[in-house]
Amino acid sequence: MAGFRNDGWLVRVRPRAIAVAVALVLSPALAGAETDPSSLYARIIDMREQSRFVPEKALKQLLVLQTEAAGAPAATQAELLSQLSVANMRAGKNDAAMAAADQLIAYGKSLHDDTIVAKGLMAKGYVLFDRAELDASHQTAFDAEKMAATSTNLALRSQIAVTVGQTYAEMGNFPAALAKLQTGVDIARQVNDDPVMLFGALNALVNLYTQMKEYDKASAALDELLTETEKLRSPGRMAIAKITEYGLAIDSGQPKRALRALLQSLDLERKLGAERMIGMTLVNLSDSYLKEHDYPRAAQYATESLRSTALTNDKSVEATARVNLGQAYLGMGRIAEGKKQYEAGMARYEQENNKPDLQDALREYGEALERVGDLAGAVSAYHRERAISNELFEKRRQQTVLELQAKYETEKKQRQIQLLSKENQVKGTEIDNRRLQQRVWWLLALVFALASMVVGLLYRKVRHANAQLEVKNLELKAQSTLDPLTMLYNRRHFQDFMRDMIHADKPLTEKRTLHGDDIVGALFLLDVDHFKNINDRYGHAAGDAVLKMIAENLRVVLRETDMIVRWGGEEFLAFLPTIPRHGVDEIARRILVGISSQIIRYQEHEISVNVSVGFAPFPLAPADVPLPWERAVNLIDMALYLAKSHGRNRAYGVRGFENFHQTSMEAIEQDLESAWRAGFVDLSVVLGGGPETPPPSPSEHSNVVPLKHAAHKNSH
Ligand code: GH3
Ligand code: MG
Ligand code: MG
Repeated sequence: MAGFRNDGWLVRVRPRAIAVAVALVLSPALAGAETDPSSLYARIIDMREQSRFVPEKALKQLLVLQTEAAGAPAATQAELLSQLSVANMRAGKNDAAMAAADQLIAYGKSLHDDTIVAKGLMAKGYVLFDRAELDASHQTAFDAEKMAATSTNLALRSQIAVTVGQTYAEMGNFPAALAKLQTGVDIARQVNDDPVMLFGALNALVNLYTQMKEYDKASAALDELLTETEKLRSPGRMAIAKITEYGLAIDSGQPKRALRALLQSLDLERKLGAERMIGMTLVNLSDSYLKEHDYPRAAQYATESLRSTALTNDKSVEATARVNLGQAYLGMGRIAEGKKQYEAGMARYEQENNKPDLQDALREYGEALERVGDLAGAVSAYHRERAISNELFEKRRQQTVLELQAKYETEKKQRQIQLLSKENQVKGTEIDNRRLQQRVWWLLALVFALASMVVGLLYRKVRHANAQLEVKNLELKAQSTLDPLTMLYNRRHFQDFMRDMIHADKPLTEKRTLHGDDIVGALFLLDVDHFKNINDRYGHAAGDAVLKMIAENLRVVLRETDMIVRWGGEEFLAFLPTIPRHGVDEIARRILVGISSQIIRYQEHEISVNVSVGFAPFPLAPADVPLPWERAVNLIDMALYLAKSHGRNRAYGVRGFENFHQTSMEAIEQDLESAWRAGFVDLSVVLGGGPETPPPSPSEHSNVVPLKHAAHKNSH
């Protein structure tokens, strides 16, 4: 049954006692540092020491000071509110204590002073702790730490570090607790002229080492604590240090030292009249005697403690006192009374929801009942203990499971997020690829469309160009074969035509007969008579009109199959491929008459013209050797010249050759007239009708030459 109350006491009560001690010790300006001890601030600071040990007395004085404090500096007012909160709490007036703490927080906030807010949060945290609202108390400690993180008030920061360290200890996080307490001690050492702060921090450190069962370190820290406390010459502080020594001694198996320390503490507390401390010390004394199985003394101290807590209204200490008293009674065989006290104490634990202490108490209770032979009661206590144990275990297990679950969930979420982001990445890449692909297709399609368009345009252009080319070619061909003024074939075309015929070895005329008459081809060469005069008299345009008229006339007179050629300026050549031999002169006559009978109206003038013609059948074959077409044309040109020189407006035709062996073609070509007179050439002469030929020029000898067969073919 070793020290269940002590464990409970140490964990549950001692931190609070220390926290309050720290709150008292580690406030900013301390009494010793004050230059004017009679000032309001100095008197408030003085109250802190009283408040720790005789809170009711301190409270009365603080309330008096409150009226004086109106209009005092912020630090003074803040300190007063802080002391009011602590004193009220110490006096068991938690509502008033909480009100003062809240007022202090609001005051700090109104000034935007984080240090004052932190101080208020600390005061509030102590009240919450006294109300057994542990979670809320812990939270305010952490809030205060954050608020004071950058504060220049080292005392406050040390106080907060110590309180946060104790908070971690209560949460079972000893490494964090130790780190914070060491920080608290370090900060306290920086304030060299104030050993009271170091006292508070060292005191907490000894308690933590004890709790961690680090007894050597606890002992070393305790030695320093006791040395520092001696310097303070404060009975209250020494009383606290002795309780701390008691805790270490009892846990490290030194019951005699523990008892001695407790009794020393009790002595000091009684001298001070520190009722609350007395109550706690008495409980611890009863516990010590229970361990010694000195039940009457244990009962005596527990009873004394109850008397004390009745004064101070300290419910937690009262609960432990009752449990101790119950155990003492049971040990003394006063079972009913013992059970009654036990149940009352445990009821308070239950009320505080202090399961760990309740569990310990139930175990001790069961053992005690068993010892006194109340087996039913023992079993019931064990069952309750088991239930709480299971509940605690279940709670711890659930907590662990929850923590694990939370961890697992976090990891799972993390993994899911990673997976999702990976998936997103993959999807993103896929989408990007698809987009890229689409873009490539679009581009290709566009390029294809553009290319088709260009090709289409080019194709159309080419086609258009080709068509134009064709037209141009046709035009060119026409231009190259036709005479633009008369639209008759030009001389070059005729030459090409003749050459092609000869190359193709085609007969230019068919050798056949019609009604016993030869079918022959024929060439006619025309020249306009005195054409120059027309140009001169009426102008060149009039001449052109005459030329056009002649072309028209030739088209009318001749057949479509006949080839009419503009041979030169006012000379025309006609090639008739098929014509009866006896019809050739008739054609010559029709040409003459056709043209001369035509009157051309040009402007106000009436113009008429004659032509002279030389002609021959074609091919001509003197001595059965056909003449080349050029020589045939040359021959009819000679005949035309004869027509001109014999009076114009007439046609001379070479009909054939006679006695050709007596002459040569060259001789005939040189002088047709002589050959004709010599009888080597047979000529026909066709005279034009209509108006008389225009007045002959002086060189004209129209009727000079006797004609061998004159007029025999003349239609007139
Ligand atoms: P002839 O033949 O009866 O001896 O007399 P001519 O006046 O016809 O004499 P010549 O052959 O010397 O003159 C031909 C004239 O025809 C010369 C030329 O100015 C003209 N001529 C030639 N080609 C054209 C043409 O296309 N248009 C016009 N208006 N005159 C032309
Ligand atoms: Mg001429
Ligand atoms: Mg002429």
